[in-house]
Amino acid sequence: MSSAAREDGLAKYEPVIGLEVHCQLLTKTKLFCGCLNRFGDAPNSNVCPVCLGLPGALPVLNRHAVTLALRAALATQCAVQPRSIFARKNYFYPDLPKGYQISQYERPLATDGFVEILVGGEARHVGIHRIHMEEDAGKLLHEGFAWSGEKSGVDLNRAGVPLIEIVTHPTLRSPEEAHAYLDALRSILLHAEVSDVNMEEGSLRCDANVSVRLRGATLLGTRTEIKNLNSFRNVERAIHHEIARQIATLEAGGRIVQETLLWNAERGETVSMRSKEDAQDYRYFPEPDLPPLVVDDAWIASVRATLPEFAAAKRRRFVAEYGLPDYDAGVLTESREVADYFEAAAKGSGNPKAASNWIMTELLRALKDDARPLSEAPVRAEGLAAMIRLIDAGTISGKIAKDVFEEMWTSGEAAEAIVKRKGWTQVSDEAAIAAAVAAVIAASPEQVATWRSGKTSTMGWFVGQVMKRMGGKANPKVVNALLQKALEA
Ligand code: ADP
Ligand code: MG
Ligand code: ZN
Repeated sequence: MSSAAREDGLAKYEPVIGLEVHCQLLTKTKLFCGCLNRFGDAPNSNVCPVCLGLPGALPVLNRHAVTLALRAALATQCAVQPRSIFARKNYFYPDLPKGYQISQYERPLATDGFVEILVGGEARHVGIHRIHMEEDAGKLLHEGFAWSGEKSGVDLNRAGVPLIEIVTHPTLRSPEEAHAYLDALRSILLHAEVSDVNMEEGSLRCDANVSVRLRGATLLGTRTEIKNLNSFRNVERAIHHEIARQIATLEAGGRIVQETLLWNAERGETVSMRSKEDAQDYRYFPEPDLPPLVVDDAWIASVRATLPEFAAAKRRRFVAEYGLPDYDAGVLTESREVADYFEAAAKGSGNPKAASNWIMTELLRALKDDARPLSEAPVRAEGLAAMIRLIDAGTISGKIAKDVFEEMWTSGEAAEAIVKRKGWTQVSDEAAIAAAVAAVIAASPEQVATWRSGKTSTMGWFVGQVMKRMGGKANPKVVNALLQKALEA
């Protein structure tokens, strides 16, 4: 579809997107048994009667998995339900030995939160509808084995691994917003140490629900659900594709069928997998082998006390506490490492805005040039702070400071040692500067006459002459003042 046709379509129709994210929790063991939760082991080596669904085996809830789910819930501002219920979701598939998945349905662990994203510099809340706990299914092995031509294998190491499912309200309005939400959510889950959020290893998986409706309409259109999205980039591409397909279908007089689609990344298109199931197809009913999950206030409080500060809160604090512009705060909180570096440099120098400027320009540029991570920067926050203190004390000029920074970066030396070794100390001593001023005036009778006739715009030339005599180290304020005095005399 041409971009003009796409724009026409978007002028008439509004896309509506809701995302369901499955996230594996970073536990040692599975959700209802003691088997290891570990990626990459030999197939079917981490299994037991519980996760194999053998008759008579009973599940026991992993407390640490609940704690991690609570971390995710609190980090996304959800309300934790004091009592949630596990339910059986019944369906048949070869990777599901019990014939049902233990999940939460009517009474999920947490509801009504949000994740803050930035859209064109503006903060926006993406509403979280619910977060519930469930167990993962096993994995079918269709390729890569000698027997792959004739049959498929089943690896049940993953069966029973703890998951949370995070479901948004249908409030996302573009593929780019969906991508921004996923980036923000991944950063939260990673920093809260809930999951390693690795899409290649399947510890983060995303399904996208997409519909379109006429702009101004209040009812939602019929949606499709896209599965098999193995990267955030593909989530974005698939949603773009599906929006265009739905608009074209409606414009041609057709209607959207509620169905589940598979994304084919190589061909850049979706294929129909099955008509969308309804909740009633799963015959959900409360899990008889597990009591209700009760979370008391003390448990919530202890989890809350160990949560880190997340990017959005940090951004606001940097503006309030350090008086930074929104822009600076946004750049500095993009990664936790940069934010920590900034805070150390701001505190060490006593000059937050200068610290922010040096980090956003010189430091980030130098890291990029060297393709190094911040952890390997030869200039540490304390070193940068010491250099800023030299500028603020008038020991070095802001101009010389750039050279000092370069030298710190390549030699790893402290600013003060470099300034001493190179003799870069700014000269504020009036007698030395006055001597240079006198020498310049004595050597330039013509220029002095011009200045005295009223062409005072030549001041810059005089400053340059004095600076040249002093090797660029004279304090420019003092130079200006003494020149003014001498020329007026
Ligand atoms: P299910 O579990 O059957 O997939 P849910 O009602 O839990 O259904 O919704 C799943 C996701 O689909 C949620 O993220 C929700 O916001 C989104 N969604 C629901 N209706 C629509 C719609 N008409 N258009 C786009 N997304 C939708
Ligand atoms: Mg769904
Ligand atoms: Zn097991």
